[in-house]
Amino acid sequence: MENFMLYNTLTKSVDPFVTYENGKVNMYTCGPTVYHFAHIGNLRTYMMEDVLEKYLKFIGYDVKRAMNITDVGHLESDADEGEDKMVKGAVREHKTVLEIAKFYEDAFFADCEKLNVRKPDIVVSATSYIDEYIRLIKILIDKDYAYKAGGNIYFDISKLEDYYCLTGHSSENLAVGVREDVSEDENKRNNGDFVLWFTKSKFADQALRWESPWGVGYPGWHIECSAISMKNLGEHLDIHCGGVDNIFPHHTNEIAQSEAVLGHKWCTHWFHVNHLNTKTGKMSKSKGEFLTLSLLQEKGYDPMVYRMFCLQSHYRNPLVFSFETLDNVKAAYNKLHDKVLSLSKDGEVNKEEFDSYRDKFASAMANDLNTSMGITTLYDVLKADINDATKRALIEEFDKVLSLDLLKESDSGVDEELTKYVEDMIEKRKSAKAEKNYSLADEIRNELLEKNIVLKDTKDGTTWSINK
Ligand code: AMP
Ligand code: ZN
Repeated sequence: MENFMLYNTLTKSVDPFVTYENGKVNMYTCGPTVYHFAHIGNLRTYMMEDVLEKYLKFIGYDVKRAMNITDVGHLESDADEGEDKMVKGAVREHKTVLEIAKFYEDAFFADCEKLNVRKPDIVVSATSYIDEYIRLIKILIDKDYAYKAGGNIYFDISKLEDYYCLTGHSSENLAVGVREDVSEDENKRNNGDFVLWFTKSKFADQALRWESPWGVGYPGWHIECSAISMKNLGEHLDIHCGGVDNIFPHHTNEIAQSEAVLGHKWCTHWFHVNHLNTKTGKMSKSKGEFLTLSLLQEKGYDPMVYRMFCLQSHYRNPLVFSFETLDNVKAAYNKLHDKVLSLSKDGEVNKEEFDSYRDKFASAMANDLNTSMGITTLYDVLKADINDATKRALIEEFDKVLSLDLLKESDSGVDEELTKYVEDMIEKRKSAKAEKNYSLADEIRNELLEKNIVLKDTKDGTTWSINK
C-alpha cells in the first residue's frame, strides 16, 4: 500500500496515514445544512473529500463512509445563539422545515452528481437519530460530563484534560469579551460549555421538537455528528472531514462528546479543506449572495470545469474564485478533453509502462493529496512516448480518482435543467415575436448569448448550441 502522507489537523503535521484496522478506512464527513442551495465553496469541500475517498480506494483501502444531513437547528452563529437556519429558510420560502430540508437535500445530491462526487455509503438525516442523541446525552450526564441548567443540558468542557486539542486555543482566548461571538450565558459553568439539548428554545417559532427525559426540546448541533458517526462507523474513526470553519467549535465539540462517551481516543486523522473565497472574502450561505453550480452552468461552464478548477489547487490553501481564472481552466479543460478523445482506441496496453505511470500518479497524490501534481502526471502521460492504448488506459485509471470525465464523449454532458431553461426561453422568444415584440425577442437572444448559448433560426424552428 502506498505510503500516503496526509496533513492531520490534530497533530498539525503531515503524518503517514494509518488505520485502526488493517486495510479498512472508516471515514466521516460533515454533511450540508439543508436550508439553501449549496454554494460552490461548500462543493469545493465535498469534491476534495471525494478525491480523498477515491484515492484511498485507489491505493487499496476498503472505505466505508458516512455523512449527516443537518435538517434541524444549526444556529446562525457557531456559538449557541443566533437564528435557527432551518427555520429561517422555511419562513423565507413559506414551507415547512422538513419540506425545505427535502428540497435542498435533493438539490445538494443533484449538484454532487453533476460534479461526480460519490454519495457516501451511509447518509443520515439529523432528525432521524433523536433517540440516539438522547442515549448519548444520558451517558454524558451519568458520567458527569454534562449538567442541566436553565432548562438546557450543557457539556462541561472543564471535565476534559484537553478540550482544545484540535485548535491549540487556550481557555483564556475564549473568555467573555475576547471572542465576539461568545456571549455570556448565565447557565453555563464555563464560557466554552455548549448545549447538548435545548428545552428552553431561544426561538419562539422553533418548528421541530421532541420528547426527552429533560422535557420537550431539540438537540444541539454538534451531537448529531458524534452520534451518526459512532452508530455507523464504530468506536474508532480513522478519518473525519469538513471545511476549516468546522474545526472550532463543531469538531472540537464532537471530540469532546465522543471521547467522553467512549472513554478513549476516538478519531485518528482530521482532514480539513480550506475555503473558497471571493475577492471580498469567504463565500458563505448565510450572507445570502453566493454562486451555485447551476449558475455556473447557466453561464456556460461544464461542472467538470469547476472540478478541474478546484483540483488544480491544493486543498489546504484558500482558493479565490474568479471568472477569469475559470475561463482559463475552461479552455485548458476543453483542450485536454479533446486531446484525450483523439487518442486512438487501437493497440495493446503496455503493462510495464502502465504500472510505472500508475505508480507515478499514486506517489504524486501521496504527497498530502497533491491533486495538481496528479493532473501534471496526466499531462506527462499525454506527452510520453507510449502508445495511445496505454495512454487511454492510464487516463481511465487516473480518472477513477480525479473524476474529470476525460473519456466521456462531449455532448452527453448536456444538462436536463439547462435544456429545460433554454427551451422555455425559446418558447418565450417565439411568443414575443408572434406579438411583434422584437425588442423582447432580442433581449432573450442576448441573455442566452451572455451564457454562451447560441440560437439558430431554421425553417423548422429554433435550434441551440453551447459555445464552448
Ligand atoms: P454547511 O452547509 O454550512 O454546514 O457547510 C457544508 C460544508 O461546506 C462544511 O464542511 C463547511 O465547512 C464547508 N464550507 C462552508 N463554507 C465554505 C467555503 N467558502 N469554502 C469551502 N468550504 C466551505
Ligand atoms: Zn459534523
